[in-house]
Amino acid sequence: MIPEVDLLELDRRYLWHPYTQMKDFEKDDPLFVDRADGVFLFDAQGRRYYDTISSWWCILHGHNHPGIKAAIRDQLDRLEHVHFAGTTHEGAIRLAEKLVALTPDGLSKVFYSDNGSTACEVAIKMSLQYWKHMGETRRESFVSLERGYHGDTIGAMSLGGVPSFKGPFDALTFDSYRIPSPYCYRCPYEAKPPAKSPNHQITKSLNCSIECLDPLEKLLADKGHEIAGIILEPLLQAAGGMIAYPVQYLKRLAGLASHHRIHLILDEVATGFGRTGRMFAFEHAGIAPDFLCLSKGLTAGFIPMAATITTDDVYHAFYADYEEGRTFFHGHTFTGNPLASAAALASLEIFEQEKVLDGLQDKIDILQSGMERFKELPWVGDVRGIGMVAAVELVMDRRTRTPFSSEKRAGWMIYKEGLKKGLILRPLGDIVYLFLPLSVNAVQIEDILNLSFDVISGLNP
Ligand SMILES: *Cc1c(COP(=O)(O)O)cnc(C)c1O
Repeated sequence: MIPEVDLLELDRRYLWHPYTQMKDFEKDDPLFVDRADGVFLFDAQGRRYYDTISSWWCILHGHNHPGIKAAIRDQLDRLEHVHFAGTTHEGAIRLAEKLVALTPDGLSKVFYSDNGSTACEVAIKMSLQYWKHMGETRRESFVSLERGYHGDTIGAMSLGGVPSFKGPFDALTFDSYRIPSPYCYRCPYEAKPPAKSPNHQITKSLNCSIECLDPLEKLLADKGHEIAGIILEPLLQAAGGMIAYPVQYLKRLAGLASHHRIHLILDEVATGFGRTGRMFAFEHAGIAPDFLCLSKGLTAGFIPMAATITTDDVYHAFYADYEEGRTFFHGHTFTGNPLASAAALASLEIFEQEKVLDGLQDKIDILQSGMERFKELPWVGDVRGIGMVAAVELVMDRRTRTPFSSEKRAGWMIYKEGLKKGLILRPLGDIVYLFLPLSVNAVQIEDILNLSFDVISGLNP
């Protein structure tokens, strides 16, 4: 008997997987992953699958990277964990120093936590408390984007704009001001028939005046003094549908935030650490946030960890004699975990030693230009991308951009077909995307593109 069969039975008996309708496993087993190497995952029979979604957007230098494994092993012999209030350790200190060096001058203080949701919760709580300390107590609201995603805890969810994720929890979430998504393919302001959404957003000039920011401009003029901050994912709304958007949007938004003195909170949990071609996505816009939220790629996908980086200004609003009551009462058990710190430090060393960012542009060009051919396919309404991320939006009718009805489960069909061809495509609804590890090579990118093309062209909904 193959052990996998027994284990899958035990999985059904004991487990409940995230973002999964467990009944789907009656017909289709989850993929049993036995081991991984580089950009590949292997099942128990040794079949190989491209990890085209970087194991939920966190793998950077490939699975099984010897440098990161060695760093974790060394750390394991020294210190595996210690609470982080009243104690400190070398890894957390050295990592903070490196993160501050990598980010713009204004960002100078690192607050650790352990996942992307908490990185965002920390930012909004710090922002809110900051304004209390500054005596601007009316600043109690946040602005967020439709189709934005910041995690699944209550605060992060309150600022999320993906309706299906939060519907049942409306009673628990707080209100925020929601502004339109810069979703060019479904632009509500567009009078004339669609151009495709701009690919290679970063250099492209725009043929609009970013009307989707007018509501923010109005909102800030009216209510700016009640707003603590605005949170968004720079240049790529990832979970909202891999919506890559123009750099001009981010620039103008940052200008408005600064003009109205509200905090700019950039959630780079998905985009950080090279995925868009720069270390951080906001660098493309030449701006700097008041809060930068990092997780996923922080440890190159090896161990959970997160960081919220902020300014001296924010830090000093909390810095006072204890009796003044300005302490930030927030923390997580695994804050600044030493093994995670070691993995993150090793990942940043790999960036330097292997000159990862220098080598990226060629790969990005292969990926993004290779996506052009998908535009011919009958069900492909839009092709978009940035950096190592590329997506197609499947639609039932290209002319009207009408989506497939959800019962069709076009995305699910793609997932199953992908597995047969050795690809882990895990579409977001009907948006099929590649979110590639930075370590993927040119030949592998071509292979992934060819296989994905076969899968999508074979779709028969
Ligand atoms: C994944 C993600 C989060 C949440 O991170 P978790 O570690 O899953 O809590 C937050 N923001 C963005 C942009 C993400 O992609």
